[in-house]
Parts: sequence; C-alpha cells; structure tokens
Amino acid sequence: TKDTFAQIAAKDADVAAFLALNEDEATATAKKIDAAGVAEDNKLAGIPVAIKDNIVTDGLTTTAASKMLANFVPIYDATAVKKLKDAGMVIVGKTNMDEFAMGSSTENSAMKTTKNAWDYTKVPGGSSGGSAAAVAAGEVVASLGSDTGGSIRQPAAFNGIFGFKPSYGRVSRWGLIAFGSSLDAIGTLTRSVRDSAYVMNALIGADDHDTTTVPRPAEDLGAKIGQSIKGLKVALPAEYLGEGVDKAVADQIKAAAKKLEELGATVETVSLPHTKYAVPAYYIIASSEASSNLQRFDGIRYGFRAKDVHSLEDVYVRTRSEGFGSEVKRRIMLGTFSLSAGFYDAYFKKAAQVRTLITRDFEKVFEDYDLIIGPTTPTTAFKIGDKVTDPLTMYMNDILTIPVNLAGLPAASINAGFVDGMPVGLQFIAKPFNEATIYQAAAAFE
Ligand code: GLN
Repeated sequence: TKDTFAQIAAKDADVAAFLALNEDEATATAKKIDAAGVAEDNKLAGIPVAIKDNIVTDGLTTTAASKMLANFVPIYDATAVKKLKDAGMVIVGKTNMDEFAMGSSTENSAMKTTKNAWDYTKVPGGSSGGSAAAVAAGEVVASLGSDTGGSIRQPAAFNGIFGFKPSYGRVSRWGLIAFGSSLDAIGTLTRSVRDSAYVMNALIGADDHDTTTVPRPAEDLGAKIGQSIKGLKVALPAEYLGEGVDKAVADQIKAAAKKLEELGATVETVSLPHTKYAVPAYYIIASSEASSNLQRFDGIRYGFRAKDVHSLEDVYVRTRSEGFGSEVKRRIMLGTFSLSAGFYDAYFKKAAQVRTLITRDFEKVFEDYDLIIGPTTPTTAFKIGDKVTDPLTMYMNDILTIPVNLAGLPAASINAGFVDGMPVGLQFIAKPFNEATIYQAAAAFE
C-alpha cells in the first residue's frame, strides 16, 4: 500500500488517472491486515486495488466523472466493493472515466484528462481510462472497471494490459451507477491474467440486490490456467479483420492466431454476418436504457442542484442542463426519441430484433468452436483531441467490442504486440459462463 501511494505520487501528476485517493483509510486497513496476518490461501488480503468512479464506495466520493455528482459521498458500498473489502483488498482510490461511462477516450470526463500510459499525447481509451492507465503506469496492480460496450477491453488494449469482462449476470451491478442495465458488467484491469482471475473469483456470485445475477455452483474461474490449449477450437471472424481495421493491427492478430496454432489450437475463419449492425443497435439500446436510468438525477435526490431555481421545472431543467455534459445529453435525447410512442417500433424494437440476430450469430459459431478471437479495437490509441468533436467516428471505435455486450458474453483483451510503439489488443470471446476458457487461452498466450 505504501509503494502504491508512492507510485501514485510519482506518476499521477502526468497520467492523471485518479479522481480521489483514500490514503488514510487504506493505510489503516493495510496495518490492520498486517497485524492480523493473512491465511496462506488468501491471495487478495492486503493487495491495493483502484475502483472506477461509477462504482459506489461508502464514505468515498463517487462522481461518475460528472458535475452532477461532483460532491456525492455514498453511504454504502457496491456489492463488488464490499466483496473485495471482505477478501481483504485495500481500496486506494477512485479512477477517472468518461462521464457516466459514455465514451471511448475518457475525454468526456467533467474532471480531468487522463493520459495513455505509453504516450501522454494519446488517449487511454474509455470509458475505464483511469483504471487502465493506473495499472499500465504501475501505480496499482489491479483495478475495477465497467464494460457496457467495451469500456474495460478497449482501454486495456490501448494501454497494453489485461482487461476482463465477465458474462452478463456473473457479477452484481448493485452500486454500479447504471448506464445500460441490460449491457453493464463489472470486471477487472490487471497486468497479469492470473491476477484478474483472483479478483474475479472474489467478485462473482448471485446477489439479492441484483435480480439479474445468476446463481451458479462455486467455481474457480482460473481453474484452467496453466493447462495446455492443445485441441482448442478457435474461430476468427472475417468481419473482425475487415473494413476499418488497420492493416498493421490485423497483421498482429494474424500473428497471434499463428501463435495459438503453435500452442496446439486450431484456428479457422468464420462469419458473424450481423456485425455491421451492432454499433447502431447498441447506440439505440444503450441510450434508451440510459435515458431512463438518468432520470433519477433531478436535482433533488443526488448531488448537484442549479443555483437560484425558483420553480420545480427550473430545478429539473436547469439542474440537468448545467449538470450533464454534452455527450450525456446527446444520449438522453437519442434514447428518449427512440423510446417515444411514435418511433418505438422503428428504432428501439428494431434494435432489439437486431440484438437477437447478433446473439444468434455467436450461438451458431459456438456450436463448433470453443473461443472466438479478433482485435479488440480497429486501431491503436489515438491522439487526445482527435475524435472528441466527431461522435460517429468515436462510436465506430467500439465495433469489435459492442457485439459481446449485446449477447451478454464473457470476453477479455490481452496485449498482442505493438504498432509504432503503441499496444495492440487481442480479444478473446467465449460462450456464456465459459470464463475459464478465456483464462486458459489468455494465460497460454501471455
Ligand atoms: N464507448 C461505448 C459508449 O460510449 C462503450 C462505453 C462503455 O462500455 N461503458 O457507450
């Protein structure tokens, strides 16, 4: 814990990954654990961890990087945080992100600009950009992120670390500030594959507070780490190396596929024909759910309220106009429109149908294969400022991660090499609740 805070002191003036630090409480917790001693088989006690700032922490500011929640101090822990604390982990602080997790570069934060750990002129990715940069810069060994359309895997890819998104329903969303409730998942950002499995094992399980969590028998997600991948059937979708994917990135992924073959896996090309509809369907579904979820920020119940408001309408309108950033407002408008009586059939319903087709594409491939691989992102990290004024280009950056959330699948990104000094992410996607296969393949590749 001491080293972690020393690293943060040395690096964070440049990287700007943290929004809040929890040094006094972390130090006290660490001392208590030192005094009590740690059981031999407890891998997590005393290990510092950083938490994305849309996951609520008792007594520690939780802003979702929004002016709307700038001074919000929760009075309870998210289930995920509680589970890490119960395992003895030490909460070091809260990390920067795109406001309400909407974005792919952390530039939509109302608080600060986080830098890519490899090149401070480039974005760290998003929305879990702070969680990724903090790990990649060596400030902390593990962090929690959230992934609605790629927000763990894409920043992991951009920062050359391991990002893991579990199956929908594996980890409780209680205390995760909701964005797209049918898509949101809490997962990990770590340097190593095994570290991720240790933390994920502590996070998983059904929770009475989240009825979408799935009860399952006790399981070690890392059980197959170290096992050979000989005979593993791996699919590489043609669409994932198609138009819009940088040739240099595609070449790295082909080299990674070769490496998996050398390790005894078979790799074959397959098709996920509805991939091209994933981004438009996602932006309708995610924004619709967000427009509903964000209704609670009304100037009365939480955080920010506009000054000098004299009527109820003023409280709502001025609070929301001043409290939300422009990307959040864009999504609320898009979502409200898609759900409105006159347009529901043409937009939300259509998107929900496309979602089913995308899910079926995956199911079909998984009839014959254990794992799907591809690039995590079409390009490596881009320059700060390059895409921020062009939302559509920014949205397209998520084309390879979004289908996974629409289908609720587990997936991860691991570093697969570099292009011009910037890390390239290799994505692994598995059947629902087959996290163990991802860990097996990723560890063999590491
Ligand atoms: N970049 C995507 C978006 O802006 C995904 C975000 C996320 O996964 N939270 O919606």
